Amino acid sequence: MKRSTDSETRAYKELGNTIIDEKQIEVALADRKHDKTAVREVLAKARALQGLDLSDMATLAHISDPELLGELFDTATKVKESIYGKRLVLFAPLYISNLCGNECLYCAFRAKNKELKRRALTQEEIAAETGILINQGHKRVLLVAGEAYPGEGFSYILKSIKTVYSVKSGQGNIRRVNVNIAPLSVDEFVQLKGTGIGTFQLFQETYHRETYDRVHRGGKKRDYEWRITAMHRAMKAGIDDVGIGVLFGLADWRFEILALMQHIRHLEREFGVGPHTISVPRMEPASGSRLAEQPPKPVDDLDFRKIVAILRLAVPYTGIIMSTRETPAMRRETFALGVSQISAGSRTNPGGYSTDEDFYSEQFCLGDHRPLDEVVNDAASLGYIPSFCTACYRLGRTGRDFMDLAKPGDIKDHCNPNALSTFVEYLTDYAPEGTRRAGEEAIRSVLADMDERTQARSVTMIQEVRAGRRDVFC
Ligand code: SAM
Ligand code: SF4
Repeated sequence: MKRSTDSETRAYKELGNTIIDEKQIEVALADRKHDKTAVREVLAKARALQGLDLSDMATLAHISDPELLGELFDTATKVKESIYGKRLVLFAPLYISNLCGNECLYCAFRAKNKELKRRALTQEEIAAETGILINQGHKRVLLVAGEAYPGEGFSYILKSIKTVYSVKSGQGNIRRVNVNIAPLSVDEFVQLKGTGIGTFQLFQETYHRETYDRVHRGGKKRDYEWRITAMHRAMKAGIDDVGIGVLFGLADWRFEILALMQHIRHLEREFGVGPHTISVPRMEPASGSRLAEQPPKPVDDLDFRKIVAILRLAVPYTGIIMSTRETPAMRRETFALGVSQISAGSRTNPGGYSTDEDFYSEQFCLGDHRPLDEVVNDAASLGYIPSFCTACYRLGRTGRDFMDLAKPGDIKDHCNPNALSTFVEYLTDYAPEGTRRAGEEAIRSVLADMDERTQARSVTMIQEVRAGRRDVFC
């Protein structure tokens, strides 16, 4: 991507150096409190939905006592339920290209990986993949690409987004395209916004500078400051739903979550609003990557659950995304601890929805191979409402407007009816009988727990969908 003039380069380098303060993180981790009283004070603060500071997070990150761990998980579950209720937003990744000029040692798409079959989808192929996802029942996709675009350069991405939005199949279409692509300049972000994207997502991978330099060995991604300032440029360009994340397994996870919080607070100070979502990818084996086979700082399952719980308490109003990197069992556990969005039925190879065999071009190995319908059935059987809602950004409830609604808890009045109406749409148009039964049961139970006003609104919207109207939202 273009980096413009020397003074602009100096400016992003300077900004990039003000976001993370490694010393402050080290001090917070070293000075953490150990006693039960201190831990319980932090949990009480979290229960009041006040968020956490670095020192609170350091205290929770070191809990090992089983009784306190139970209290941590229990608090996270309560906070999750009080803000998000039972809804769980679903999406599918759409990998359009695995061409890449970078050399990230953990990724199969890295430039020097000769084992990988390279492929950039044509617009016709992107339309075909989109059609398949629509016919499964998806309404949201996350468009993903490596950092090298075929022929026409960046406009390949812009065209691809337009293609996804243009596809209609039966009564369905994709209503929200989020993107996970390399950092852009402000001008390019303006063009990206013009295509009508939802969230711009980008993971710093690791905030730990020395580790970052060690694992990013070539290409534009070597530039730590260009990457860490990407969200500032996106917000400057008017994209106010941004998603950040860490690739867990590269550096100490405790350091990473405190650094993630510094990134969040920096955005809040500059723009009055933090990220819309946080992703928590854990490193998976990837073809041609020895590093991914043996992550330098592996995160075990217990610590992974702690990460989700602590983030849920630290930023209660920010969505947490769990991908199909994780197994069905881990995904189920983390729904309760704070996850609010999940991918389902994913493929990580370009063209992966059209063919079942071509795994030589995939990015990493999946932990959850189940098709969308099985994931929906499972979530509904656990009492969750799988949501295909895309209302907020289409109504302009993004960034600060979204947070202003979310903080006093008002967003639930919209989210829950929207989750129910889009779920009924899914059950009517795409689900087999077994899923329909599990879904109707979950809907009954969620409706029964609602306050009168939200219940009445939900019932009206559900009736409209049952009568044949589509895309009913409030
Ligand atoms: N190329 C762009 C970039 O790097 O930001 C965007 C797409 S990249 C395919 C999306 C994400 O995949 C990366 O940010 C990284 O966190 C994740 N990833 C790469 N290798 C992985 C692995 N072995 N296991 C799990 N996630 C991985
Ligand atoms: Fe390329 Fe992104 Fe993979 Fe790095 S993580 S090699 S930038 S696709």
